Amino acid sequence: MKITRISVYQVDLPLKYPYWLSGGRLKFEMLDATLVKIETDAGLIGWGEGTPWGHTYLPAHGGGIRAGLALLAPHLIGLDPRSPEAVSRIMDVQLPGHPYVKSAVDVACWDILGQSAGMPIWQLLGGEADQQVLINSSISTGSPQDMLALIQAAADKGYTVHSAKVGGTDVALDIERIDTISAAVPAGHKITFDVNRAWQPAVAIEVLNSVSARDWVEQPCETLAQCAHVAGRVSNPIMLDECMSGFEDHLHAWKLGACEGVKVKPNRLGGLTRARQVRDFGVSVGWQLHVEDVGGSVLADTAALHLAASTAAPNRLASWLCHDHLSVDLAPGQGVRNQGGHVELPNQPGLGVVPEADLLEEPVAVYS
Ligand code: MG
Repeated sequence: MKITRISVYQVDLPLKYPYWLSGGRLKFEMLDATLVKIETDAGLIGWGEGTPWGHTYLPAHGGGIRAGLALLAPHLIGLDPRSPEAVSRIMDVQLPGHPYVKSAVDVACWDILGQSAGMPIWQLLGGEADQQVLINSSISTGSPQDMLALIQAAADKGYTVHSAKVGGTDVALDIERIDTISAAVPAGHKITFDVNRAWQPAVAIEVLNSVSARDWVEQPCETLAQCAHVAGRVSNPIMLDECMSGFEDHLHAWKLGACEGVKVKPNRLGGLTRARQVRDFGVSVGWQLHVEDVGGSVLADTAALHLAASTAAPNRLASWLCHDHLSVDLAPGQGVRNQGGHVELPNQPGLGVVPEADLLEEPVAVYS
């Protein structure tokens, strides 16, 4: 089987409400999505998506994905998409780095592999049938009362796990946010306080040694070295996210004892093929993992949750659904959907999501 054509689509994904994180210094209202459609000489068609969470969150942006695809596409025509590992190796040779460019291609290859094998991606990745995956809300930074109102609204939709965005320069306000939210969260609910790298190490140590909460704290500082310094001086379990760009970072974090868990995000790592490697490493060293994507429509969410569903339950924390924040739906009724705080994975072969043709404009580029 050979790749014969690659079509690239650009889609604006507006958020329902403006979203602030990292202590309010970063605001998001629209995501720039890139969808990739891969066609083959066997008639099978695969879809993938690359959607950075804006252009200020990570070193990635929508225009960069489309520019990178223009460089990669000539090297992909003629390859067998049923070998995602081989396709990833060729992409790494032709465009070192830039994992967010490669993710959409990789997911489309997994989609085709699944269709050709007659199996959903979660099964190709080793998952069991009828797995339900717990999902978590994502709570924008605000006053403690505003954030509690958002947590209650999420609880009304069935969410029992929440990621509350904190962090900033006002130490007293962060202590108040964490203690107020931790004390008031509904009984039985779990919470992670996600700092999105906003604290200096001394601030992180001061805040976390002042609060009574012993919940997870995510990405307290900018760099892995700073987070490791903090991890050795606080008693909260530490989750790492933005500073984990590839396998080497995961190995380094483990050697440093910098965390008890990581976020595994295909778009940040180069797709399901590379995300699976760090997932397997994390399981091997006893970390707990949130497996989800950086952002995107139900297509990106579903791809990431196939990997989540194939992750051993003791190592698997909840997954976030970005599409729950969007005011557009590219594949109504398809893919992973909130069913009272969890999702069920599609059972049809491959990814199990095909964007509605009339919701896409003409492709911005076609390579054949
Ligand atoms: Mg995070």
